[in-house]
Amino acid sequence: MSNLDYKILIGLEIHVQLCTKSKMFCGCALSFGEAPNSRVCPVCMGMPGVLPVMNKQAYEYAVLTALALNCKIAEFTKWDRKSYYYPDLPKNYQISQYDLPLGSNGFIEIPLESGETKKIRIRRTHLEEDAGKNLHSAGNFSQVDLNRAGTPLLEIVTEPDMNSAAEVRQLAEELQRIVRYLGVSEADMQKGHMRFEPNVNLIITRGGSEFKTPIAEIKNLNSFRALEKSIDYEIHRQLDEFLETGKTMEMGNKTTRGWDDVKEETVLQREKEEAHDYRYFPDPDLVPVEIKEDRLREIAACLCELPLKKQMRYITEYKLTAYDAGVLTAERSTAEFFEQAVAAGGEPKRICNLLAQTGLKLANEKGCTVCELGVTPQNLAELTKMASDGEISASAAATIFEKMAQTAQQPRIIAKELNLIQKSDAGELEAIVAQVVTDNPKAVADAREGGKKCEKAKNFLLGQVMQKTKGRANPKVVSDILALKLS
Ligand SMILES: [Zn+2]
Repeated sequence: MSNLDYKILIGLEIHVQLCTKSKMFCGCALSFGEAPNSRVCPVCMGMPGVLPVMNKQAYEYAVLTALALNCKIAEFTKWDRKSYYYPDLPKNYQISQYDLPLGSNGFIEIPLESGETKKIRIRRTHLEEDAGKNLHSAGNFSQVDLNRAGTPLLEIVTEPDMNSAAEVRQLAEELQRIVRYLGVSEADMQKGHMRFEPNVNLIITRGGSEFKTPIAEIKNLNSFRALEKSIDYEIHRQLDEFLETGKTMEMGNKTTRGWDDVKEETVLQREKEEAHDYRYFPDPDLVPVEIKEDRLREIAACLCELPLKKQMRYITEYKLTAYDAGVLTAERSTAEFFEQAVAAGGEPKRICNLLAQTGLKLANEKGCTVCELGVTPQNLAELTKMASDGEISASAAATIFEKMAQTAQQPRIIAKELNLIQKSDAGELEAIVAQVVTDNPKAVADAREGGKKCEKAKNFLLGQVMQKTKGRANPKVVSDILALKLS
């Protein structure tokens, strides 16, 4: 086996639920957790004689996302019926876009472990409606809940440009960040707002020949963990199958598999599925969609700086670590708050530390965003300036931040109230240093002598001064005075 080598190819289909007020083709509100069949109407129940009407907001959200993914936007698209029979699909067809997707030929950039980025091509993005849900929890029969039927879904299809499960996860997480930044989806995994279908195959070279394993599409994954695990499993399964049976693409180029989350393995569902099985044809009930150039420009004006670009900029512009930049850009509201505090004259690194270590923790406890803590960007900027100037210590800054979140008061007022202003008055500190020097002749001798004991003795003397001032002396000023006294 020493001359065996293989390359992993993975493409991904993602369904993102858009956060519109109403469903894709009727006025029913989107639903999560309501009583079954309480958010339905004749349109989404598929009654005869009803007419669907396109949700304009869903369409514009889809266009905005396609623009963020660098797609070419189709000036003209239409709606097609994808026919199949299933109890949760009352019309026996799903309204989708077949040959004229609204977006095509784009790309998404994803961060890699190495700190570099990689471009993954986007083949197409299109809109469609979700199906209902079959419930199997009621004994010997199944029930159908149509609350979800007709929910707008944006489907995004990538080219098979990813070469590991980790890369696929990166893409999924990056896409989550993007749609949240754009405000087009809550992208809440727990609520099924993002669902994934990776297709995986291997190109194996052995003894100078190349073999392709059949593409396996893994259906309906709804967590990042399942996405990554199922792909890793599938890579090894395909390699084993090839080594055992020599099965390659010529013997059936595509299979559909499911993921068993308990056994942690993929299970064969169908051998083959072709587009013509769905008998796609244009929906006669819906008018095609045309988008004018000026409207497209208006939508494009809603694009914000995308999270990865922001993250990279924070690293170069503010000299933050990749980790810190990632924490700040995880949510748009945090990033914008950070930028406002920087614009107000705060020190980026200190703002970052206060937000990452104190602000986000508090926000998490309260279940809100950092902007909703009651701390203004101006007050945060002021707080970091006080720390930079040595008026307060770094730990005092965190204490003051917490207090600001409770009282919305200015940092200087809180610092005075809590007695956290450091003593920087050289005259006052000089007397204390002089006293410490007199009281500790042994340490002073060690400090003057130099060598191994010197640093330890200096720190001891500094500690004595801090103790006498109850930790409120500015260490920089004390060190300077001490250095003079010891010279
Ligand atoms: Zn409805």
